[in-house]
This record gives sequence, C-alpha cells and structure tokens, in this order.
Amino acid sequence: MSMPTVGREAVTTQGNFDHAPRHVDAVFQHLVQTSPVGIVVLRSYGDQPSDLMIYYLNDSAMRLLGRGADELIGCRFLDLMSTALWSSLTGWLQQLLHGTALPNHPPLEAADLPGDCAPASAVAVAAGPVLLVDGPAVALQLVEITPSADPAAASWAADDLSPLSFDGTPVSLFFSCLDPASPGRLLRVNAALCDLLGYSESELTAMTLAEISHPEEAEASQGVIEAMVAGWLTSWHGEKRLRHARGWFVWVSICTAALGEEPDRLAQAVSQVEDITLRKEAEVRLTHQALHDALTGLPNRLLLRDHLALALAHSQRTGDRVAVLFLDLDDFKAVNDSFGHSVADDVLVEVGRRLSATLRGSDTASRLGGDEFVLLCENLADPEEVHPVADRVLKVVEAEMHVRGHSVDLSASIGVAVSGPGTTAEDLLRDADAAMYRAKRRGKSRWELADAELQAAAVRLVEVESGLHRALLNDEFVLHYQPTIELRTGRLVGVEALLRWQHPHRGLLLPHEFLDVAEDRQLIVPIGAWALRQACDQAAAWFARFGDRAPVVAVNISSRQIGRNDLTARVRDALRTSGLNADRLCLEITERQAIDVAGIGSVDLQALAELGVMLAVDDFGTGYAGFTYLRHLPVHVLKIDQSFVAGLGRDQTDTAITRSVVTLGQTLGMTVIAEGVETIDQLDVLIEMDCSQGQGWLWQRAVPPEDIDPLIDYVA
Ligand code: C2E
Ligand code: MG
Ligand code: MG
Repeated sequence: MSMPTVGREAVTTQGNFDHAPRHVDAVFQHLVQTSPVGIVVLRSYGDQPSDLMIYYLNDSAMRLLGRGADELIGCRFLDLMSTALWSSLTGWLQQLLHGTALPNHPPLEAADLPGDCAPASAVAVAAGPVLLVDGPAVALQLVEITPSADPAAASWAADDLSPLSFDGTPVSLFFSCLDPASPGRLLRVNAALCDLLGYSESELTAMTLAEISHPEEAEASQGVIEAMVAGWLTSWHGEKRLRHARGWFVWVSICTAALGEEPDRLAQAVSQVEDITLRKEAEVRLTHQALHDALTGLPNRLLLRDHLALALAHSQRTGDRVAVLFLDLDDFKAVNDSFGHSVADDVLVEVGRRLSATLRGSDTASRLGGDEFVLLCENLADPEEVHPVADRVLKVVEAEMHVRGHSVDLSASIGVAVSGPGTTAEDLLRDADAAMYRAKRRGKSRWELADAELQAAAVRLVEVESGLHRALLNDEFVLHYQPTIELRTGRLVGVEALLRWQHPHRGLLLPHEFLDVAEDRQLIVPIGAWALRQACDQAAAWFARFGDRAPVVAVNISSRQIGRNDLTARVRDALRTSGLNADRLCLEITERQAIDVAGIGSVDLQALAELGVMLAVDDFGTGYAGFTYLRHLPVHVLKIDQSFVAGLGRDQTDTAITRSVVTLGQTLGMTVIAEGVETIDQLDVLIEMDCSQGQGWLWQRAVPPEDIDPLIDYVA
C-alpha cells in the first residue's frame, strides 16, 4: 500500500478531526489513501478556477485520472478534463472556491476523464470547500458508477446531499462507542452499512460490534474495543465476518480508528467497512484446493502433516498417544489395467469415503496420492486401541464393492506406528511406511506394527539416503576392479567394475550396504552414470598403456537406468569423452532385469548393441525363467551365478545346471563366465566342462585399478 501523497504539507480540514490526537492523522490518511472513492484536493494559486491545481490525490483518483502522483501533483485540473466540460466545471468550482457548499456536479462520462474507467460508466462528482493552513482549497470525490453498480453508489450519484457526507458515501461506515458504559455499541451507521448488512439504522444502533460479529470473532471484536477504551490501542485493521440480518455472514475488511476524547461527546471510534466476500470465497476455495486431494476431497499430505503436528503437540501435553496408519492398496495396478483409469478413480473415491466413514470425527483420513492413504487417530489412552481400528479398516476396504457395474475385489496392506515421548511427525510417517512395506512382504491384506527393528531399518534408510546424496556431491564413490580369467590360458581378459563407497566414518562400504537404498530412491541413476564414465576413463587409460592386452571392462547397469530412455546417449557420451572403443566395454544386467526389459527395454538394449558394446546377462540362472527372453535380447555373455558355482563337484543339481548353461552359451555363440570361483576343485570341473572364463577369489578379489596393472601381463 502506498503512503498518502501530499503536496507540501499535510492537509488539515475544518471537519470533526481538528481535536483528534496525532495518531488519528495517520489512520485518517490511511483511510483516505485506500478508499475506493477517488479523492482529489485542488488548491488555488490565483483567483480563477483555471488556476486550481492538484495538491493531493489518492490511489483511486490516480486510476480515474490515468497517471501517477508524480505527473498529476501540480497539474492544472481543468487541463485534464475534456474541453466540453470546462464551462460547467468552471462555474461550479468558482463557487466552491469562495466557500459555498454546493450539490453534486452532474456525473461525468467515462470519456471525459483521461484514466482507466469502464467505457459505459459514469463518474459522480461531489466536492466541498476546505481550508488549508495557507489558503482555500476544494476537496473532490469521484465515484465510478458502472451500469451494474450497486444501488448505494447509484443513489449517491443522484443524491443532493452535501459533499463528504456520511450517509451519501458508498463506503460503509459506522461510529462505535468507546465509553466504558456501553463499549462497542454502534452509535451511527450510514446507509451503505445498512444495505450491506440488511438491517435498518435503528436495528444496528441498538447493537454492539460484538453482537453483529461472527460468534467465533465476537470475543476478539470486543477485545479490540476494550483495548481502545483502555487507551492502549488507537487503530486496528483486520478481516472479519459480520452477521447479515438474514442470518448469513458477510466477510469484510474493517479499518477502525479511535477518535479520542472530546469535551461534550462520548469517546468513539470510526470504522470503514469493505465487503470482501468474493475475495474470501475465492481464498477459501484456493486454500481448500491446496490442502485437499482433488479426486477424493480428503486432506492431502500438507494438511495431514499439519494435523499430525497439532495432534503430536497435544499428545505431548496430555500423555495420550497418536497413531498413524499407512495404507497402500494391494495390486491396485490390476484394477487400473482391467477396468481403466476412470473406474479406478471411482474406486479410490469409494475407498476414501469408506475410510472417512469408519473413523471417529476427530480422526483424519487423508490421501497421499496414487493408492496411498494415511489415517491419523488421536487421543489414544493406550497404544493397543489402534489395533481394532486397523482390523476395521482392513475389513471396510475388503467389503464388496461395485463401481459402475464392475465388481471390484480390493485389499490393503497397512503399517501402523504409535507415538511415544518425543516422537516427531517424520518419525511416525517413516515408521508406518516401513511397517506397510513389511505387511506387503508378509503377504499383503494385513497390518503390521512398527517395532524397534523396523524403526532401525527405517532410520538406516533415511541416513543412507542422505549419505548417498552427500557422497555424490563429495566424490566419495570409487570403483574397484575384479579380473575375469580365460580358463584355457589363465590370462586376464577382462575386469568387472564394482562400486564401493568410501564412507567418511564407516570406511569402505560394499554394495549390499547401500545399493538397495540407491535403487529404491532412484539415486542409482546418477551413481550409475558416474560409474559408467569412470569405468570408461579407466578402460581408455589401460588401453593407452597396454593396447590390445588391456582388459575389456564390464560395468553393472541397473534396470532403473535401462528404464530411462537416455541410457544409449549416456553410453555414447562416456565412450566419446574417454575415447574408448565400444568393443572394449561390456554392460552387465542381471537376469531378472533382463526378463523385465525383454519387452519394453529391448529397443534400448538393441540401440546399445548397435553402438558396438557387449551385453552380459549377470547372475544367470537365478531368474527362474525359461530361456526364451534370450531371443529378444542382443546378448554376448552369460555369467553363471555364483550360487551354482559354489556347489560344483559337490552338488549334482548345481553341477548339472552349470553344465547346461555352458552348453547353452556355446550353442548360442556366447561367452560363458563362471562367477564366484573360489577353489581349485571348482576350477577343474569348469575346465572339464569347457567353460570359457571365470571370475572369483581364487584369482583375485576386487581391487583398486592400480593393483590390476601388474596382472595384465601376468599369466596364472
Ligand atoms: P555382481 O555383478 O554379480 O558382482 C559380483 C559380486 O560377487 C561382487 O560383489 C564380487 O565382489 C563378488 N565376488 C566375486 N568373486 C567372489 C567369490 O569368489 N566369492 C564370493 N563370495 N563373492 C565373490 P560386490 O562387489 O559386493 O557387488 C555385489 C553386487 O552389487 C554386484 O553383483 C552387482 O550386482 C552390484 N553392483 C556392484 N557395482 C555396481 C554398479 O556399479 N552398478 C550397479 N547397478 N550394481 C553394482
Ligand atoms: Mg556383475
Ligand atoms: Mg553376478
């Protein structure tokens, strides 16, 4: 809001405020500056109306006159008006200048004013003489009346009342009593306020401000009045609801100023009231949208967190417990796939309805998105009180459901966490989430309670995740390399790049300590991209030193990387920047991933193969699948999983499976690598089977790249 723009010194009027304390100036200036009525003070620097210049104007007047204060102050008023108006305005202003109070000037047409009026509107003009400290002036009020304008404004235009009149203005005004005998009683109200609230003047003046306030705000209104009566509050501005005669409430913005003591009059306050119902309704709608899920109308994550924080704060005081139930529908994808999205949406709406209906009024059912809902139960005297709630929730989800003629079978997995001393909202949501995953793992359609073990796992997850972010930023990852050996010659033919995390406190971490979290939180994508670049740089460095004797480097690729459509581009980039030939790079994907991507991702793998890189199926034999997927993938290498190699020579089944994989590879023209070779006995069996390559601790564990160098020319 801009401050009042005044010519050289403050405007003083001959009105009722002469004796008002200093602060009233500021409040009065605020009221004037923000009034929807355009107010212009004209000063004379000669005898003629044509000498009247703009001395002060408020924001609304600037809008009607189409310019800012800089341009308008000091400008001759008549120069701004159309010439057709000059003669009528001159006569009218002349009389005002000589101190005569006059009826309003006939309304001006929009086109007569230079500013921003709606084309069909007219502008009502009222004016009165005022005396500034150094001479006479004229105060003009300009009100834009659009054809649909409210009747108060229209009647004001036709009104013959004196300018600056209390009853004539379209702005709602009232005076209230600041006398301790009847604090807050309305003493005078104008017609605009009566229209706004639907009461007659006599009805309103029989009431207090608290009585026309919304019940929730009555006490606060009375508080403001009492503070003014006591003298430590002199002005107040705020938004509140006033009661309409017909029972509804009108949102208003109220600006109130205490008028101070006068010898023969009760102490009173003046208030300007603006109807803001439309804005409030829009605000309420927007707030609702921001805090609720559009599909089900349930509170969303934001509002849930808010409720949860309040419930926890309350529980810390009372010692009661708060429980969170994290609910995920089981196999909801199948509902989507078989009935389509719009039926699935209706199913979610129905689930939301059932969840709300099954809770107590003080509890909250919210939807986080997708098929995830979170229920919040407050004021539990005993943690076990949530158990029957969880049972009931499972039942209502599983109860028969018919949606648009389809019978839908649903079940849910629920994780339950109950607060203890000092529990935070994050703790509860995290633990309930972890318990929900355990419910899924243990067969779905059930609920599980978060316990210490789960909590520890959940804490680890959060710690590892934030640690991984930091590790990426601080370059804490390293690659170690494990040789693959050609069994016939004992020569090192390749190396596999294996990821390690040089943790600042915990030392060198192996993949099983962090890779699941990286996969789960999608961090494997940037980590994998880093590994790819790093491995290609290392392979290029070896090639530069050792030429063809340098090992082919294998890099493990996660299915999350394959699922993205930029893997080929990333591989191409890594090859280009390192200068490595594509045929010196092998990409490993596990058999399970290979099966997953045989359909969707094979295009990507095909494009990779066309680059000239080799593809290996890792952990081969663990995917519990037939071999048909191999037909759809451009595979060059099969890596027999170490669980089969471990049983070689001792376990008939393992030996038979290994033999058949070796034969399969030979038949399909693929290289077969036995993983996890630890003993000479295993090696002997593999040689007897004519397996081409091996990898394992028998030769070497994964080591830093410089430890590979001496092995390159070494023949075992
Ligand atoms: P993998 O690709 O099957 O790698 C072989 C794993 O077996 C390595 O474990 C290796 O150290 C271990 N190993 C090698 N020889 C022997 C042996 O003789 N006996 C035994 N018991 N183990 C042996 P590591 O380094 O812990 O890696 C585990 C898994 O983590 C890898 O299995 C791979 O799936 C994944 N991984 C490693 N680095 C990366 C990477 O950069 N990206 C992705 N996406 N995954 C990676
Ligand atoms: Mg591997
Ligand atoms: Mg493997």
